[in-house]
Amino acid sequence: MAVVGGGVVGLTCALELARAGHRVRLHSADPPEATTSAVAAAIWFPYRAAPVDAVLRWGATSLAVLTALAADPATGVVLRPGTVVHRTPEPDLWWAPSVPGHRPARPGELPPGAPGGTRCTLPVVDMGRYLPWLAASCRAAEVEVVPGRVDRLGDVAADVVVLAAGLASGPLAGDDSGVPVRGQVVRLADPGLADWLLDEDHPDGLTYVVPRGHDVVCGGTAEVGATGTDPDPDVEAAVLARVRALVPALRDAPVRSRAVGLRPGRPTVRLERIEVDGRAVVTCYGHGGAGVTLSWGCAADVAALVG
Ligand SMILES: Cc1cc2nc3c(=O)[nH]c(=O)nc-3n(C[C@H](O)[C@H](O)[C@H](O)COP(=O)(O)OP(=O)(O)OC[C@H]3O[C@@H](n4cnc5c(N)ncnc54)[C@H](O)[C@@H]3O)c2cc1C
Repeated sequence: MAVVGGGVVGLTCALELARAGHRVRLHSADPPEATTSAVAAAIWFPYRAAPVDAVLRWGATSLAVLTALAADPATGVVLRPGTVVHRTPEPDLWWAPSVPGHRPARPGELPPGAPGGTRCTLPVVDMGRYLPWLAASCRAAEVEVVPGRVDRLGDVAADVVVLAAGLASGPLAGDDSGVPVRGQVVRLADPGLADWLLDEDHPDGLTYVVPRGHDVVCGGTAEVGATGTDPDPDVEAAVLARVRALVPALRDAPVRSRAVGLRPGRPTVRLERIEVDGRAVVTCYGHGGAGVTLSWGCAADVAALVG
């Protein structure tokens, strides 16, 4: 069988399928470090993904797997405490049922100007280490990696094809409901931050701070339909102003790198078994801002649908 796509979703599906006993070939147009997945912050959080029930289920499975992986430093996964900021009196904590141990933040735990928040400990995934770990795990499970772009699903020789090519999946499946959601980040030198911070409803725009030890991923933006991947200096200046106001320890931290990624937006994640030209195709795409967060739960469902 074949998997098309070598980002976090395709690699996780390939690994899950190989571990279930399938002989897997993985086709990928780009190396892992050149994917959207490599730009992800990447904290476990179900941002911009639907439908809610399935997202909670996939997220809970992934949370358990990532929590277990945090015991192995080679994976690049660590568990970190942090704060989800609330800017409304009755915040919608729809994601919280998946997260054990979450609690209201105490005033001293809130960043300057934030009226409320929820504290919890979540996996933070350093994608610069995690994607190579996933790729090496695939190789160890005898997944054959075939570099190169697939132009038509019919060109892939396999009894079943798993379509996990992120934003490129829709065009391959004749589905035009995908939309890029552009996200820009700037990475600062890490002054030794212990906590992450997520402030989705910041009045000046989506804001997050995710420390990884060697750097801190600061964001962000979520521009629906925007496609350029060059970092915008004005956007970066605005992000830096927001994060430095919320986390004063970052005031003098120098910029280490910057990046833009196009999240694979879709009204809902498409995970189903369909037929294309008489052949079984299991779709797994449209994870929006939560591909890492949902990866293991979705891969388990994909393996069940492949059978
Ligand atoms: C700034 C930013 C921050 C983010 N933060 C988080 C976060 O904190 N937590 C989280 O869970 N998610 C986060 N995300 C979202 C996450 O990055 C995506 O949901 C995830 O990367 C999607 O993974 P994917 O494997 O589906 O797609 P991609 O990573 O885009 O991989 C697609 C793969 O398909 C291959 N491909 C494409 N076309 C073809 C073709 N025709 N033939 C063969 N191969 C093909 C590509 O080469 C690539 O290997 C963030 C995204 C951005 C941009």
